[in-house]
Amino acid sequence: MLSQLISSESIKSVKSILRDAKKVVITAHISPDGDAVGSALGLRLFLSLLDIQATVVFPNSAPTFLDWMSGAKEAYTYDEQQAEVATLFEEADVLFAVDYNAASRIGPLAERFIGSSAKKILLDHHPYPEDFCDVTMSHPELSSTAELLFRFITQMGYYPELTTEIASCIYTGMMTDTGSFTYNSNSPEIYFIISQLLSKGIDKDAIYRRVNNTYTESRMRLQGLMLQTMKTYPSSHATLLLLTKEQQETYHMQKGDSEGFVNMPLAMSGMKMTCLMKEGDDDQIKISLRSVGDIPVNEISSKYFNGGGHKNAAGGEYRGSLESCIEKFEEALREYKPLLTSKKA
Ligand code: 5GP
Ligand code: MN
Repeated sequence: MLSQLISSESIKSVKSILRDAKKVVITAHISPDGDAVGSALGLRLFLSLLDIQATVVFPNSAPTFLDWMSGAKEAYTYDEQQAEVATLFEEADVLFAVDYNAASRIGPLAERFIGSSAKKILLDHHPYPEDFCDVTMSHPELSSTAELLFRFITQMGYYPELTTEIASCIYTGMMTDTGSFTYNSNSPEIYFIISQLLSKGIDKDAIYRRVNNTYTESRMRLQGLMLQTMKTYPSSHATLLLLTKEQQETYHMQKGDSEGFVNMPLAMSGMKMTCLMKEGDDDQIKISLRSVGDIPVNEISSKYFNGGGHKNAAGGEYRGSLESCIEKFEEALREYKPLLTSKKA
């Protein structure tokens, strides 16, 4: 049996909001990942079971390796479809915030979200949720929002109606947010849920291949180059990967092509923390951080890179040259050296 984590009060409030819902918009965070996309699309399919018309809106596009998911092609992206999205927000009577904990995580969409008079419902697992929704279902103890969506659907009483398509969306989110069940994945209930998803007919092996085995030759070579040029900080048990604008152009990098790169150095024995810096436009550098054990990369990201996330997986941004960004990272390494070198962490 699954524990009933979501409060009955929340379930009651959502039921009452959805009873009158006519047009629902589901939003997920900027640069949506497998969990954001799986949870948003899965929620849309679930609402359609209740005869509620819902539209998914991402601030920018999702990676193409998630295109196979049911409803992926019908999702809107705000950066490319501003006028259409504006109309969707004006007409919506219910808005969902999925897989993010603060309005700022949807970038320029935040103004429309906050300014809307629609009822707002949050489904998320990031720590420290902000109070910007009418119903906040925030469960940082769970490894993915997709797992929370499964629990939500079950507690709403709809497990019997769960379709293979919804189950596939949920499995994708659970799989991607745990590195295919290699971190944050020790809770026994995760595997109880997976067995329930399998009984709904998902093909977990095919989902793994569709999400992970999609490299082009140039992406595979770029990965090799990044590992060759990796900087190491042996005394801090840390590594740094750099992805310059020039490399991205030479290797014809597509959106989502650097997904997973940041995790690779964690395969080195004794490695505690890895960082990936990806150069973007206008001096903007996207930061990804990963760690093992007690190294809180969400705290590091928030202090040094204006970001956040989870204890072992976080991200942020930096404005300036790559050289100064590296210096900033090295400053963080100095501050956290006691923790990085402690036996406990
Ligand atoms: P990734 O490194 O895969 O982009 O992100 C890892 C985790 O950090 C995700 O849970 C994501 O939501 C969070 N994250 C990534 N970038 C940012 C950011 O700029 N700000 C905040 N607050 N969280 C971020
Ligand atoms: Mn997530």
